[in-house]
Amino acid sequence: MVQPLLDVAVIGVTALVVLTIAEKALQNKAARGEPVRKVSKKKAQYQTSPKGRQACYNCQFYSDSDRTCDIVRGDIAPQAWSKFYVKEK
Ligand code: SF4
Repeated sequence: MVQPLLDVAVIGVTALVVLTIAEKALQNKAARGEPVRKVSKKKAQYQTSPKGRQACYNCQFYSDSDRTCDIVRGDIAPQAWSKFYVKEK
């Protein structure tokens, strides 16, 4: 009887992405095309699988030609995801 309510609560929490003010400023700067000091995958909560429909290949910060991201350091897989995701326009 209580289980369905718990399931809804868990879905809500896992879908929640919180950026600090500094992280949001970094994201905005990258969105304007300005160079930023990239963050580690760990700090970006990078994961190697998509988060629902959100994946690097459809994120505005992803460069498919060289598998890089404007915000996160290192080799970035097209099917990965991080908390800095913004849907490509
Ligand atoms: S989802 Fe994150 S790691 Fe992937 S391209 Fe976007 S900002 Fe970079």
